[in-house]
Amino acid sequence: MRVLIVGGGPAGSSCAISLVRLAAKLGRTVNVTLFEHKTFGTHYNQCMGVLSPPIVQLMEEYLGLPFPRELVLREIEGYWLHTENRSIYLSDTSSEHPEPSLATRRVYLDGFLLSKVQTAGVEVVVDRVVDMEFTGDSVQLYTEGGSYEADVLVGAFGLDRTMGEALGRRTGYRAPDFLDTVVTKIHPGLEIVNSFGNRIHAFLPKRLDIEFAALVPKRNHITALIAGRKVTSGTLLEFLKSPSCSAVLNFPYEVQKVFKGNFPICPAKNFYGDRYITVGDSAGLVRPFKGKGINIAISSGYYAARNILERGITREALSQIEVDFAEQIGDLWYGRAARWLARYLSFFSFFDPVIEVAGHNENLRQALFDSVSAHNTYRSVLGRVTSSPRLILELTGAVGLSLLRGKQPRA
Ligand SMILES: Cc1cc2nc3c(=O)[nH]c(=O)nc-3n(C[C@H](O)[C@H](O)[C@H](O)COP(=O)(O)OP(=O)(O)OC[C@H]3O[C@@H](n4cnc5c(N)ncnc54)[C@H](O)[C@@H]3O)c2cc1C
Repeated sequence: MRVLIVGGGPAGSSCAISLVRLAAKLGRTVNVTLFEHKTFGTHYNQCMGVLSPPIVQLMEEYLGLPFPRELVLREIEGYWLHTENRSIYLSDTSSEHPEPSLATRRVYLDGFLLSKVQTAGVEVVVDRVVDMEFTGDSVQLYTEGGSYEADVLVGAFGLDRTMGEALGRRTGYRAPDFLDTVVTKIHPGLEIVNSFGNRIHAFLPKRLDIEFAALVPKRNHITALIAGRKVTSGTLLEFLKSPSCSAVLNFPYEVQKVFKGNFPICPAKNFYGDRYITVGDSAGLVRPFKGKGINIAISSGYYAARNILERGITREALSQIEVDFAEQIGDLWYGRAARWLARYLSFFSFFDPVIEVAGHNENLRQALFDSVSAHNTYRSVLGRVTSSPRLILELTGAVGLSLLRGKQPRA
């Protein structure tokens, strides 16, 4: 079996490593070639670099790789959640020994995984894939430097539009809908970076164009991110100067480089078919609001490899991925509801009373933590809130009261 993988991010690397490992277990021969046009370290995949549990287990179980602890810059203990007028600290109270999220530099992770792909014996071609053709019994791939033939194509190209269009022209694939992101690094000095502790600050600004924003402490700098439909570097500056952000990180700081990216908010159409399957962001099998992009990239790479080897490369065989990802696909509508609620509640300042109630209601606090940290599905987050009539009553009362009171004073 010959497999061509387009993209050497976590999804492509995971698929390559899994194909080699699983083929060896099954006593099969597989010939894998992976294409990645970036040189990690000079070029970057945009990311905050926060790895959520169970990343350690995923890497060990699916890829057979001991988690590279040396890549961890911080263990994230908890999150501050800020609206325009209120703030609350959220940590995992659901277990006695909660597993922290791990902050790294994304480029370290990409470099680490790609080196393991090479160690596994996969041919890594540093080249940009530009087009493909599907004939009855093979796939032909065209790069800027040559052409390659195989039995099946794995699309792990993230949200690369050229690749999305190329695959879409040859198949029924349609890339997922996405949000824009704008990221910058701020160097306010070590004292201020360290004052963040191991805590991420997440923001729900009172404006519809920013769906969420975050400040993440790294070793010697703070990474700032905003996400929304059409956010720009100007929107990022406005956020950094806003009172809620300035209360945490007092602007002005020099903003040197700004990076733009995207993340998907729903699955792609026809993300698999005869002789092709997409994984990670290309497939859009993500949480529709935020979180766990890397975990899902790694697990979808693994499942795609397993299905190719164990079930085959027809559309019908590859449809097993929908069963493997039933939880994520089933969570889509809950995630959309959570996203919609967060946007409009914060826009109309109704998230302030929610935070007030969470101050004394542990159940709601845990639901907010699960949502912000991506530790749990949106279904379980919403279930946690709606299963308690007392909590719903309290929330309705608090929102009603805030309507009567008008503007909330800052806590
Ligand atoms: C700003 C931002 C912050 C994020 N923060 C987090 C976070 O903290 N934690 C988290 O878990 N997730 C985060 N995510 C999501 C996460 O980055 C993605 O879900 C994850 O990277 C998906 O992995 P992937 O391998 O599918 O795609 P990608 O990481 O996008 O990798 C695709 C690869 O394909 C290569 N490629 C594309 N086209 C071609 C081509 N034509 N030829 C050759 N190579 C090609 C690209 O160079 C790239 O290396 C964030 C996303 C953004 C945008």
